[in-house]
Amino acid sequence: MTFEALGLHASVLKALTESGYTKPTAVQAQAVPAAIEGRDLMVSSQTGSGKTAAFMLPALHKFASAAGQQPAAAGKTPNQEAQSARSRGDRPRFKAAQPKMLVLTPTRELALQVTNATDKYGSFMKRVKAVSILGGMPYPKQMQLLAKNPEILVATPGRLIDHMESGKIDFSQLEILVLDEADRMLDMGFIDDIEKIVDATPESRQTMLFSATLDGVVGNMAKRITKNPLVIQIAGSATKHENISQRVHFVDDLSHKNRLLDHLLRDVTMDQAVVFTATKRDADTIADRLNIAGFAAAALHGDMHQGARNRTLDGMRRGQVRVLVATDVAARGIDVPAITHVFNYDLPKFPEDYVHRIGRTGRAGRNGVAVSLVNHAEGMNVKRIERFTKQLIPVDIIEGFEPKRTASAARPSKPGGWKPGDNRGNAAKPGQRTFSKPGAPRKEGGSFNKGPRTGDSGNTRRSYGDR
Ligand code: AMP
Repeated sequence: MTFEALGLHASVLKALTESGYTKPTAVQAQAVPAAIEGRDLMVSSQTGSGKTAAFMLPALHKFASAAGQQPAAAGKTPNQEAQSARSRGDRPRFKAAQPKMLVLTPTRELALQVTNATDKYGSFMKRVKAVSILGGMPYPKQMQLLAKNPEILVATPGRLIDHMESGKIDFSQLEILVLDEADRMLDMGFIDDIEKIVDATPESRQTMLFSATLDGVVGNMAKRITKNPLVIQIAGSATKHENISQRVHFVDDLSHKNRLLDHLLRDVTMDQAVVFTATKRDADTIADRLNIAGFAAAALHGDMHQGARNRTLDGMRRGQVRVLVATDVAARGIDVPAITHVFNYDLPKFPEDYVHRIGRTGRAGRNGVAVSLVNHAEGMNVKRIERFTKQLIPVDIIEGFEPKRTASAARPSKPGGWKPGDNRGNAAKPGQRTFSKPGAPRKEGGSFNKGPRTGDSGNTRRSYGDR
């Protein structure tokens, strides 16, 4: 399958060649032709599968084709309109932006990434402009962006609602609505905002919903807001992360964990890494400690200003930051191909977050390594992750870093790597994996939380800085 065979507009094809893409990913091959036909889509696919292009390429194709058919009748550009208004002597007045496409994302980082991808895929088109409308960005700056009447808005729900309520955005001309990582938006409590936004868009719109899962609440919402959708389920390596080598190291205490982390970060095969922590404070503390130990480390979390977050991510993309120490929410959607390793310094609160975390590595068909540093008391949490991903995570021991507790007696590292079934079996046997007894004292680290997902520890939804 080639991109040409998908029937994309020449300007989009040119941008894909320029991006070095040679063939569509599985989700693109299925979604693009249907979206070009105008079908609604319900797609289950993970980040890293090429899902952004799966919805953005057909949209850009549509805009490029429409502009090609009626260049003169397409109306004046915002600048031309402003010029003729001035020449008529009209007083400048604010006109609500009337986007043709809206992409809703759970986080600012993902929104910026989608906007950057749009700029890349649309770089050979004349008139398409995409802007991000995000919490944390100054309002005057956003007013300037909206005043340009961009065709494409990429937004987080909270801030978008603010602009809708103050009459800065009018969705009457909207043709395409995309919900990206819809499951995450629902987890983060955006259901009411999403419904309000959907209600403000025309019934005639094309709707494309992307989510890690289409089960439960997200599936119900997807059915409500789409019409006769094509359901696409991308299974296999993208969802199971089969290209990512996963393992668990049991640790006795914090000092053991820190020593092991430092050792693992010195792995010569490591290019860049993300270290996940449960709290913002830990992200700062560990980044500071790693810097003192000689690693080019930086923290990324929701308490940082957007400017600082962007600078850190730029440093990561340019390779100046080698180790990013991040919380779940801040790191969501990060797409840096040189991330070879993900470390769970703390296990995530929810098994779904484990899948999102490890998906920061092994991007675009590469291989990756995901290592979890686990307290003896957290064995059950590893099991929950295994049940969720339907994969066993092998336990590994590194010489010189053996845990003292034999209850979690793990298999020693084996040459040739782990094979399914390697770590099944009775707890007491040497070389096999066990979990500590339920109720064993917990020294530190997270436990699975059954309460509402709040992202950065201790935050409520609004404190993501979405507004
Ligand atoms: P996404 O799932 O949209 O976050 O994309 C993951 C990564 O795959 C991004 O770095 C994209 O630039 C890259 N990508 C998307 N489509 C392709 C393709 N067809 N060929 C190669 N890389 C791609």
